[in-house]
Amino acid sequence: MSERFDGKVVIITGAGSGLGQAAALELAKEGAKLSLVDLNDASLEVTKKLILEIAPKADVLLVTADVSDEEAVKNYVGKTVSKYGRIDAFYNNAGIEGKQAPMAEYDSKVFNKVTDININGVFYGMKYILPIMKEQGSGAVVNVASVGGIRAVLNQSAYVASKHAVAGLTKTAAIEYGQYGISINAIAPGVILTAMVEGSFRQIGGENWEEAMADFISVNPMKRFGKPEEVGRLVAFLLSGESEFINGAVIPIDGGQSSQY
Ligand code: NAD
Repeated sequence: MSERFDGKVVIITGAGSGLGQAAALELAKEGAKLSLVDLNDASLEVTKKLILEIAPKADVLLVTADVSDEEAVKNYVGKTVSKYGRIDAFYNNAGIEGKQAPMAEYDSKVFNKVTDININGVFYGMKYILPIMKEQGSGAVVNVASVGGIRAVLNQSAYVASKHAVAGLTKTAAIEYGQYGISINAIAPGVILTAMVEGSFRQIGGENWEEAMADFISVNPMKRFGKPEEVGRLVAFLLSGESEFINGAVIPIDGGQSSQY
């Protein structure tokens, strides 16, 4: 049986951990040729190892890059095209959370770092990949926003500003590039249990971080965290070509959290 991603080339940023790693495993199972990008080269090796355990014949390129460095973005795009000759799909996922603090106490350096990675990283990725997809006449992009790209989140001004920007970039790119057969969407995950989220609860709860996690879940309509592989399956659908007419959407995957007040 042919898989949805047989022969397709997919770039994933932030592929060394969490949501990026989960999507890499999902797409490798479905036959994708992967170009995996992360700041942390050791974590990329871990992802590769996990992929080869479930898909021993998978084609995997690893590129170490900081997505907020425009030259490094050009380099990961160039290396991918040199190896595979095309780019069918792009999971523009790398991002950081920053600190938890009310706005007046929010460290400006941290604010700039969060917006640099979360906004510029997403922008540069699309800037260098969309022309290649336009030339091909096809492609799919999934940018990673957050429920914090739809609603406010207490004490997270930089993160919320950056994720609203991701939603805006997504909608703009979608109306500019839809005519070339490219679909561009964002996902808005709620709290999915990854290293980033555990770090966040450690900041909020200190020694009692596990209690803080339990409190948080208690107000989610589904009373649980999301799982990285659930997000991976949504991303696979959006990148597969099965959902081509979904364009410019910001899709929550949050157990209903963003619908309640
Ligand atoms: P994570 O910390 O587990 O993984 C993020 C990966 O991105 C890491 O491997 C890290 O090394 C890499 N990275 C960080 N900065 C980078 C940079 N400048 N250049 C290249 N790589 C970099 O986090 P995660 O939970 O998997 O988050 C992935 C994305 O999903 C982020 O954009 C995050 O904001 C978003 N998100 C996560 C959740 C959640 O609940 N986990 C919810 C909403 C949105």
